[in-house]
Amino acid sequence: MTRNQLDHYREVLEQQLTSIGETRNQQQEEFVEGRESVGTSSEDKATGLETMEVDSALADSEFQLEKKIRHALLRIEQGSYGICESCGAEIADERLKAKPSVSLCLPCQKKHEA
Ligand SMILES: [Zn+2]
Repeated sequence: MTRNQLDHYREVLEQQLTSIGETRNQQQEEFVEGRESVGTSSEDKATGLETMEVDSALADSEFQLEKKIRHALLRIEQGSYGICESCGAEIADERLKAKPSVSLCLPCQKKHEA
């Protein structure tokens, strides 16, 4: 992988990290607003609870993605970005373009999911 490509992926990854941070701030604001507007009837409370659970599931997957992105950025620094962590093969460019935070090549990812 060339220096230019690495720079490009680092930029994309950093942008993704920033947008995750922004989404989180927004969600926290909405959460506070949601609490303030929760009604006194039990029905309203139940609805509020469901929304909270969905939010936390979403935050969870974002947390996982954030971890992956940080990991990928670290690998750029270490010079091992774009190399499959399982078999050491180069990860296809198309795959990195679609999802710059991947750390496994397609065959290994499939094995992993199976
Ligand atoms: Zn592999």
